[in-house]
Amino acid sequence: MSNTPVAVVTGSNKGIGFAIVRALCKQFPGDVYLTARDAGRGQEAVAKLQEEGLHALFHQLDIDDLQSIRALRDFLKEKYGGLNVLINNAGIAFKVKDTTPFAVQAEVTLKTNFFGTRNVCIELLPLVKPYGKVVNVSSMVINSALRGCSQELQQKFRSDAITEDELVKLMTKFVEDTKKSVHEKEGWPNTAYGVSKIGVTVLSKIQARMLNEKRKGDHILLNSCCPGWVRTDMAGPNATKSPDEGAETPVYLALLPSDADGPHGQHLSDKTVQTW
Ligand code: NAP
Repeated sequence: MSNTPVAVVTGSNKGIGFAIVRALCKQFPGDVYLTARDAGRGQEAVAKLQEEGLHALFHQLDIDDLQSIRALRDFLKEKYGGLNVLINNAGIAFKVKDTTPFAVQAEVTLKTNFFGTRNVCIELLPLVKPYGKVVNVSSMVINSALRGCSQELQQKFRSDAITEDELVKLMTKFVEDTKKSVHEKEGWPNTAYGVSKIGVTVLSKIQARMLNEKRKGDHILLNSCCPGWVRTDMAGPNATKSPDEGAETPVYLALLPSDADGPHGQHLSDKTVQTW
């Protein structure tokens, strides 16, 4: 078994994830895994970094597929006895112009952004080694999406006592409510992507709390962050930041020094803790 530190970035064949891997290849003292749901796209991305003189390793990972997540988990367990850095970056967003029925957009978006990310955490968080770092990539849309929620929902999402089960029930209810076309009446905003990222942000706060309760001595730091508005296939060419600039906050959180006792359980933008 290798003692080399290891970092894993989900959805990193392009966009912000690819830029995160590029930065980690330069700054992380260990093995950096670029992962992608499509092995061809993943290998191509690794080759592109190779041309820049950077060495990333590849492992397949489709966060919608439990078998794929578990295969990565078993690989990390066997080869490294765990992992040191996990960046949950993989995500999807329907374009504003997309005419797919809202209920379908809600189900598909929540499946990857919330439930897929959560499944990765269920399988990989127990493997994170002491002094490890976990970064969940959320978005700036959480602020407007939260303001668009009913007072009752806002209170639940801001609660320091909300449990993972309660959050999962709420995210499931959102999808069910869109199918019955009652989501607005039930206090939800009209944004599937926004709700999915509220889910990621609240999940991160719950996971940080659980680490405090169950693994305090391990000094693991877990946060969510917004990369900013970044020029990728998701956000388009008019966005203000380059992918490398978008990678800065996630990479900052992934490389916090081992003697740092925070941030932990926070949401950051431009390397700054945001109020929630
Ligand atoms: P992107 O260019 O569309 O890249 C998304 C990445 O996620 C791709 O590698 C994609 O793989 C991967 N992915 C999607 N579904 C996956 C799955 N089921 N399993 C594994 N990988 C999957 O988007 P981006 O702008 O870089 O976004 C990266 C993250 O930042 C997302 O979580 C996004 O919500 C968040 N974000 C972006 C912005 C922005 O302005 N760009 C702002 C706020 C937050 P394929 O190539 O196979 O599709």
